[in-house]
Amino acid sequence: MSASNEAEGTAGQPLGSTRQEIEAGGWRITTLFDAYFRLDGGAMWGVVPKNLWARMTPAADDNTIRLSARPYLAERDGVKVLVEGGMGDRWDDKMRGIYHLERPQQTSLEGTLAALDIAPEEIDHVVCSHCHFDHVGALVRADGEALVPRFPRARHHFPKAEVEAERTPVHPRRASYRADDIEPLIAAGLVDLTEGDIELLPGLTLHEVGGHSGGMTIVLFGENDPNSATAAFWGDLIPTAHHIQPPYIMAYDIDVPRSFEMRTKWLGRAADEGFIGMSYHDPDRAFTRLVRDGRRYAAEDVSEARLR
Ligand SMILES: [Zn+2]
Repeated sequence: MSASNEAEGTAGQPLGSTRQEIEAGGWRITTLFDAYFRLDGGAMWGVVPKNLWARMTPAADDNTIRLSARPYLAERDGVKVLVEGGMGDRWDDKMRGIYHLERPQQTSLEGTLAALDIAPEEIDHVVCSHCHFDHVGALVRADGEALVPRFPRARHHFPKAEVEAERTPVHPRRASYRADDIEPLIAAGLVDLTEGDIELLPGLTLHEVGGHSGGMTIVLFGENDPNSATAAFWGDLIPTAHHIQPPYIMAYDIDVPRSFEMRTKWLGRAADEGFIGMSYHDPDRAFTRLVRDGRRYAAEDVSEARLR
């Protein structure tokens, strides 16, 4: 595949139209889709040399690589949880251009939910790994001049340190936070702050890992259920199924030693315990299983047949 084909987004079926599903910890987890976008490949790969990363994530002429914003829906006993909040549509033409925002077949987070016959009002919880704009952008929508919650009944669970970062005027990652993604939800009384390691709902646990951002939190399903596989939503701890060697740390990360420590720990656990990994930014693979390959890790495709 040439980089230019990749840039046009013509490679295979867009994930927005190919729904995949797994079960873990009593939760049925279904892929949703919001958008493709592109970020600088060097920033996504940190100190990894381009001749290495470009084989895994081909770069376009402007050095950007293709990423997805792919939330997931988790359902158990009638409770509906949206995991991660998409890019959304509150982008002007300039920003759309910079991030190459692309929606094949006009898909959107709300559209992929509608395809499952789920209205925004039916979402009970929204869980976010952190509050960078590409992870929360679809949670607020414009209604005329007003900014209103897209999921008006949902409790929105944000890491406390992420809301603090959004509210810090001088912050090294100021550009990654937008008050308009967060403050309308707080004003509506819909936000709960999370911290540390907690069981948020039965079979759904959160672990605050930091590193990428102050409050970066991963979401596990079935972690404490001996009869179930464990599924892990990695957020930006492991942004794509290619970022699976511990030193493959994004240049965006604010605390590199912490990222290395947490990535070493969780990649090891994922391989040893057979986790099904969920990578929000991987445009091609929604679910993968990590295996040891000598001293390195490899990500195996998890086929539909093995999932059911
Ligand atoms: Zn991200």
